[in-house]
Amino acid sequence: MINDPFPVCLTFDLDAEAGVVGRDAANADRPVALSMGRYGPNTGLQYILDLLDKHEVKATFFVPGWTADNHTAAVAKCAKAGHEIAHHGYHHVPPTSFANAEEEREEIERGIEAIEKAASVRPTGYRAPAWELSPHTLGLLAGLDFTYSSNMMDADGPYEHELNGDAKLLELPVSWTLDDYPFFMSRPERTAAEVEEIWRDEFDALREREGAAFVLTLHPHVIGRPGRLAMLDSLIAYIRHTGDAEFFRCDEFAQLARA
Ligand SMILES: [Zn+2]
Repeated sequence: MINDPFPVCLTFDLDAEAGVVGRDAANADRPVALSMGRYGPNTGLQYILDLLDKHEVKATFFVPGWTADNHTAAVAKCAKAGHEIAHHGYHHVPPTSFANAEEEREEIERGIEAIEKAASVRPTGYRAPAWELSPHTLGLLAGLDFTYSSNMMDADGPYEHELNGDAKLLELPVSWTLDDYPFFMSRPERTAAEVEEIWRDEFDALREREGAAFVLTLHPHVIGRPGRLAMLDSLIAYIRHTGDAEFFRCDEFAQLARA
């Protein structure tokens, strides 16, 4: 095998209502739109935790600070089950929407505080809402002692960012292809079976590339629907049956990749 083990990271962006409002501020006054986001922590999440438990998989939850403050018990439950709680902004607005680096730093710090309060851990990983980094983001993360970013789309596996001075930040690259949102939330919607086939193809082919990793981005209010979750169950079983793949939390994988 080229990669033994072949690293797999299941990541869940627990956007909740913050994702809905972050996408369009007018949604703050739309009860049904808000309820779509709330499906994540209120309904989908428990089934996801049960599924991860069944397969003995530890995952990473990227959590906006707003979600940590407003769905504290749900976030604490993820941490208590052994999953990583990582940073996903505070209000779920992309870093590009801030006027300057100072405003952006305040938002990141507010998110850290909220996660520390809800989960009793300081996040070491960061994923920007909508994967929109500003020119300041990576430097800010390194200055705030983050160890990895999971945002860029220019590689099949982890690499080190080149930052000023001796600042270090590992990148765990992502891809829109390995994300549930475009397939299930943007029209035309794909069937779960179609998406499973796309993800299996990517998994099989990535496994043959040296230094590659399979980083899947999921959203509890999207993948948490029953039919889609059955597909995730099947996909995890498929990944397991290959024998050479291993599931990691992103922070653990970042540590391993660095070593
Ligand atoms: Zn998000």
